Amino acid sequence: MGIGYNFRCESCGHTDRFFIGIGFAAEQVHQETLEKIRAGEYGARWQELLAQNPQADVDTSYCMLYCDDCHLLERGMDLTMRLSDDAEGEKETVPYPHLCPQCRKRMEVLCHMSPDGWYRCPECGGKMRRGSMLMWD
Ligand SMILES: [Zn+2]
Ligand SMILES: [Zn+2]
Repeated sequence: MGIGYNFRCESCGHTDRFFIGIGFAAEQVHQETLEKIRAGEYGARWQELLAQNPQADVDTSYCMLYCDDCHLLERGMDLTMRLSDDAEGEKETVPYPHLCPQCRKRMEVLCHMSPDGWYRCPECGGKMRRGSMLMWD
């Protein structure tokens, strides 16, 4: 139900892999995440939004969070909130403001990594390049 990417540093050979999509025990993860949001673990804004929109849904699929500034890539959850339908049946979505732990810049939520995408190697600072793709369920 998801895909993964292998990455390898072109300087030191360090390898890493990222899995994205909906994982094992997805429904349980989803419920636990909603509980955490209600408890305020994802910040006051998300807690408030969910309290004001009890019908809202939150995207708990795994993704990659990428900082364009310092080339940091992290595993994360999308956490986009879909508010309840309005009169026209349109769903308003609010993207979660993921902040880079290094530079505090807003991170991009990536559901795909382009073939020329890269991030900074945690070992040597070189470029981690995308390698083969993996399937998972
Ligand atoms: Zn390296
Ligand atoms: Zn950053």
